[in-house]
Amino acid sequence: MPYLHTPIEALSGVGAARKTAYNKMGIYTVEDLLYHFPRAYEHRGDVRLLSEARGEAYQSGKARMATLLTVSTEPKVSRIKGRMTLLKFRAFDDSGSCDITFFNQEFLRSTFTVGSVFRFYGRVEVSGKDRYTMTGPAYEPYTERRPLPPLYAVYPLTEGISNKMISEHIRQSLAATGLVEDPLPEDIRVAEGLCTLGYALRQIHTPEDFQSLHTAKRRLAFDEFFRFALGLGTAGRTARVQGAPICRITDTVMEDFLRALPYSLTGAQARALRELRRDLASDTAMNRMIVGDVGCGKTVCAAAAMYVAVKAGRQAALMAPTGILASQHAADLLPLFERLGLRGALLTGHTTAAQKKKIYAALASESPSERLDVVIGTQALLSEGVTFAAPGLVVTDEQHRFGVNQRATLSEKNKNAHLLVMSATPIPRTLALVMYGDLDVSRIDEMPPGRQRVDTFVVDESYRSRLDAFIRKNVAEGGQVYVVCPAVEETEEDTALIPLSADFGGEQTAVAIAEKGSDIPMKAAVQYAAELQKRLPDLTVSFVHGRMKPAEKDKVMSAFASGEIQVLVSTTVIEVGVNVPNACLMLVENAERFGLSQLHQLRGRVGRGMRKSYCVLIRGGGGDTAKARLEVMRTTYDGYAIAEKDLAQRGPGDFLAPADGAGIRQSGGFRLAESWSDAELMNHAFSHARDLLTDDPTLAGYPELKKTVARMYAQSGNILN
Ligand code: ADP
Ligand code: MG
Repeated sequence: MPYLHTPIEALSGVGAARKTAYNKMGIYTVEDLLYHFPRAYEHRGDVRLLSEARGEAYQSGKARMATLLTVSTEPKVSRIKGRMTLLKFRAFDDSGSCDITFFNQEFLRSTFTVGSVFRFYGRVEVSGKDRYTMTGPAYEPYTERRPLPPLYAVYPLTEGISNKMISEHIRQSLAATGLVEDPLPEDIRVAEGLCTLGYALRQIHTPEDFQSLHTAKRRLAFDEFFRFALGLGTAGRTARVQGAPICRITDTVMEDFLRALPYSLTGAQARALRELRRDLASDTAMNRMIVGDVGCGKTVCAAAAMYVAVKAGRQAALMAPTGILASQHAADLLPLFERLGLRGALLTGHTTAAQKKKIYAALASESPSERLDVVIGTQALLSEGVTFAAPGLVVTDEQHRFGVNQRATLSEKNKNAHLLVMSATPIPRTLALVMYGDLDVSRIDEMPPGRQRVDTFVVDESYRSRLDAFIRKNVAEGGQVYVVCPAVEETEEDTALIPLSADFGGEQTAVAIAEKGSDIPMKAAVQYAAELQKRLPDLTVSFVHGRMKPAEKDKVMSAFASGEIQVLVSTTVIEVGVNVPNACLMLVENAERFGLSQLHQLRGRVGRGMRKSYCVLIRGGGGDTAKARLEVMRTTYDGYAIAEKDLAQRGPGDFLAPADGAGIRQSGGFRLAESWSDAELMNHAFSHARDLLTDDPTLAGYPELKKTVARMYAQSGNILN
């Protein structure tokens, strides 16, 4: 009998080759295997008549089908092409008969005896009137006494491991769940009405029905939230660093900076700056986040803080998540700093080795007259060569894009420096409390004067030709256009599966899944751009997507920024703060696939200049629910209100794991939490975590729990432990 720590090779059927394959997926023990959750389920309980293979629903994507057939002829084996064998028999239901074929599985002859009933699952081809064929279908013997489970797990696989194989190895491993020690304190489990861990692990792999699967997912999602909060709580809230450089300047010196700006600060910016100056003037290191909607003018506040640090005799760094953003900041800020007598440089992946060397030396120089005061850059700032002679302030832009670990590396590099992060993603309060609980917050809740509202429309396919005309009109007037498509590519097979992320709790599940096939196919960026170019031959259309190399991406983005490209088709990679003031139209395809907060971010890409700007959300499917959800965008322009609505409707996934997803999603730390649509569960998990940590800040009394927390953070590449 396997235990959790039993090595994978102890399972029957796992030899050296499969062990290697499993290890490649990060699976070493029975426990790892049990936490290797299915990515989807085949809905084998949805048994159909053969004749339904003729129907439209089946033809449009739902390629696989479950049937219940009685074997009517003795299986015949024939030999084809050398050693290949063919086993063939006929089976029927009330609507027709089906020729079923298996290759190289002679031994099945004794399985399919005449009169026996099987549930077959696979592709059904129509071959004549009342005649069908299936080749190599999945099969399970059917008896009336024991109903077959409706859901069959489909796993993420790697070469050398088939789904059948992994299912068998998991079946063996499930025996260990009887011995699982549940790390979740019993009182919390009971208070939240959660099932035991053993039950949850059994049901997630071999669900009895939708409801049990829902129960299992709820428990496992709770665990993820709970561990997440505990991890940030035990390690994230470090004591404030003392001995930070006191950076204080007079109002007169500050005035010089403000006079160098082509505008005056808004009230909200001025308030943020006062808070920054107060923090910087203290020897307790600042740990502050500026949050505010796109375009509210966070950058100038950060620049003012950098100025304060430098004028107080220290250095300041600004780190952005992409090369193009760093370059944009440099282009805006370095001339301003220069006018004020500050020496600055840009450091990115593109910087040549010779330039890098010079910058490294100037940053580390002990002589204030040769020293670089300011550096703006990308992750390149984290490279080993970078040392600051007199670190004062470190600013990161769009900080949630960086892992917690990168934030920590940067501050590690600059011991005692003041830290400032800028975020344009309004994060719901409950989530912010856990994720950034250790940060003070300056909120900029006011837009610079003269900003116009981006008029927003929700339309469907029937507007297609009018949309093309609208693109043309905006470009003719000298503007530029973004078109955003969802990044997902669906395969035919996938459309027949129910993803793990589906909501199994409601009665709607089956209906929602059946409706899925009727969606208009999603537009993939590359193909979409080609089609659009064909329809609008006189415009310059180009595309960027997440799988392009950073250099290629930067090139296209620069061409768009300079106006060479008029229409840019992209996946959500442009979501991050690129500033093209000339862009005045944002089209979002399959808008129903996006979270409201994501849409709000996208909308913020236009309306940044003088041009009247528009955002058009094109609905590709999703029915009335999607329509109602998108309506919020038409009536609400407050990022926080939208974020709270989003959390309530879609759950926390979009906030925990940003679209182009470095961070916890990628590493698999969140597998159920990210698609969990009930924010209550998260709030409860967070509040239990808070209470527990209040009683026992290091979890000394909960060694098992502590281990699982450490494990989650180790997997997500975090330095927390
Ligand atoms: P974000 O907060 O999204 O980073 P930015 O800092 O990029 O926004 O500011 C957006 C634009 O608004 C910039 O072009 C900036 O020069 C301008 N801006 C910032 N503050 C003001 C202000 N007080 N008055 C007028 N324009 C401003
Ligand atoms: Mg910005």
